[in-house]
Amino acid sequence: NTGQTQEWLQAYVDDWVAFYRKQTSDGEVASYIPILAEADQDDLGIAIIGKNGLTVRSGDTDIPFTLQSISKVISFIVACMERGVSYMLQRVDVEPTGEAFNSIMHLEMKPVKKPFNPFNNAGAITVTSALPGKTSDQRLEPVFKLLEKMLGYRPELNVDVYKSEQDSSTRNRAIGYYLLEMDFLESDLDVTLETYIKQCSIEVTIDDLAQIGIILANDGMDLKTGAEIIPRQVARISKVLMLTCGMYDASGKFATYVGIPAKSGVSGGILAAVPPRVRDEAMPFTDGCGIGVYGPALGDKGNSIAGIRLLRHIAKQWDLSIF
Ligand code: GLU
Repeated sequence: NTGQTQEWLQAYVDDWVAFYRKQTSDGEVASYIPILAEADQDDLGIAIIGKNGLTVRSGDTDIPFTLQSISKVISFIVACMERGVSYMLQRVDVEPTGEAFNSIMHLEMKPVKKPFNPFNNAGAITVTSALPGKTSDQRLEPVFKLLEKMLGYRPELNVDVYKSEQDSSTRNRAIGYYLLEMDFLESDLDVTLETYIKQCSIEVTIDDLAQIGIILANDGMDLKTGAEIIPRQVARISKVLMLTCGMYDASGKFATYVGIPAKSGVSGGILAAVPPRVRDEAMPFTDGCGIGVYGPALGDKGNSIAGIRLLRHIAKQWDLSIF
């Protein structure tokens, strides 16, 4: 307990990854984007980076996967940095919907002046339409720049995933047309959708997610230099949105049972930011950590099924809840 060593934590996490890996068969890999169905159902990995440099990595740590919905956090942050927070909050609300990520039902409830939040598809596509630039590559440049600043390298697009998603994007096109009709979009629909699908197809690893998580946990500051990578206010709002809207229509349950700001994606990734907590000194990571999880077998709400169970277990044992 007290002074848990790196070895102790490693053995502990290894045991529980092995335990929850057996439960990946309770879920299913996403298939509505055909190429995502090729993921290995049994994969499960976690990376945890503490503010004090303590790092634990376990399971399938080196498998690259695409950001998918996790990219919505990054594009929202970038849009706030480029266009201003108050402007972006005029364009998109901060209310959870309790609906599936690709639902437009709530948009039909009149009078709606803006999409409900930046983390469902309607809101995310609206946010993406506010990124400055003409082409999708120009619009994504600040997204890549921010990622490069946080990760220390420039991630790349997975072109196969991008193509597969472009070819199967009927629902997002429908959402896009609806947004267009409501006058929510700030730029050409095709360019907006191309940009959105590209941002979803950026490839990362769980180490990258853990790194983004610790920066968010640290209110947007670079751990080593103390420099501001993300403005504090933007980092805070992003964490609020992760907590209230980050886990699709299971966000309430995740907040209740895990209690950590997190964002998942249909490829099976989860980005989690654990802020510093005043707690029992014997607990690990009391000064905050970032967590990246990968487990492509999804539960019925679209979140990594074993990933959520693993996070829930660790959060309970280590008292990671922010509440
Ligand atoms: N690119 C995916 C879509 O828009 C992202 C969905 C997700 O990860 O939830 O359908």
